[in-house]
Amino acid sequence: MKDSHGRVIDYLRISLTDKCNFRCIYCMPAEGVCPMGHDELLRIEEIEAITRVATRIGIKSVRLTGGEPLVRKGVVDLVQALNDMPEIENISMTTNGVLLPKMADDLKQAGLSRVNISLDTLDPEQFEFITRVGKIESTLAGIDAALEAGFNPVKINAVTVRSLNQDFLAFAKLSIDRPLHVRFIEYMPVGTSTGSDGTGWGKQDVVPSEELLGIINERAREEGLPELVPAGNDDKPIGWGPARYFEFPGAKGTVGFISPLSRHFCSECNRLRLTADGKLRPCLFSDREVDVRTALREGGEEAVYNCFLEALNLKPDEHHDKVGTERNMSQIGG
Ligand code: SAM
Ligand code: SF4
Repeated sequence: MKDSHGRVIDYLRISLTDKCNFRCIYCMPAEGVCPMGHDELLRIEEIEAITRVATRIGIKSVRLTGGEPLVRKGVVDLVQALNDMPEIENISMTTNGVLLPKMADDLKQAGLSRVNISLDTLDPEQFEFITRVGKIESTLAGIDAALEAGFNPVKINAVTVRSLNQDFLAFAKLSIDRPLHVRFIEYMPVGTSTGSDGTGWGKQDVVPSEELLGIINERAREEGLPELVPAGNDDKPIGWGPARYFEFPGAKGTVGFISPLSRHFCSECNRLRLTADGKLRPCLFSDREVDVRTALREGGEEAVYNCFLEALNLKPDEHHDKVGTERNMSQIGG
């Protein structure tokens, strides 16, 4: 189905929880999030019911996210239930990877099609600084587990922040020897974790993708490596969405750039978001939401369907650079 600006909407991002086993500084406060009341959180069967209605407006792809989706009890059963819906063509997940060594095989068997693993640095100390409580080995083990379980593609999402001074070339090189698809995502100054009372990062910390490509190629030249070239269509990972892909000649994976701020892709936006507390969010950057939880509990399927129609209608044409939101990323699902 199309929204009021003529865009086909076929992708739903579902946040399973706002809890997490990390506390990334750009995503949630140090003390974690205020636990949701038992009744506020959508039950797994409710997520299934809402997704079933979503297929009626044409949703074909879903991505499970959070908080950390793998800390949510019942996640494997949910993947199985989504996989049993014939209209859903693929199910993906964004995770910090920590629980993948335990769960990757079960998730694969239940029908999860692909995983994106978030990792912003290869430096162990910087990793601890960013995640506040994480160890880099746990996420690296998650990447190994995803490859071993046979997920394809495995994408690595790295948020780029100017004042972190990340080693971008080292990151891009992860795509050379293994079929890993590294994607650099511009930092988005949203939620309360930004500004002087949070990370202290603001718009000046966004590294525009074009500049980043230049930095990586310059460093590659210094190391005597070939530069990144645009990836051939056959080499781009499935589900390439809004990223622009490049590759080192002969590499097994690719390097993608996602530029929500410097080259926003609102005109191609095909998604809606469902928050863990049951709100349909038409745009990541807008706090307007539709209460689908109450609709389901008090009105049933038809009321849920009407919520989807309302959300389609509310989708703005673009974010107009208004990127501050009241909710943190962990609450929206990224
Ligand atoms: N816990 C999972 C993970 O980290 O992959 C899923 C949820 S997390 C909110 C989803 C994605 O949002 C992650 O890739 C994370 O790096 C990204 N993210 C969180 N806060 C962000 C911000 N302020 N700007 C850009 N990306 C952000
Ligand atoms: Fe957790 Fe993901 Fe947010 Fe980090 S980015 S705190 S791993 S939800």
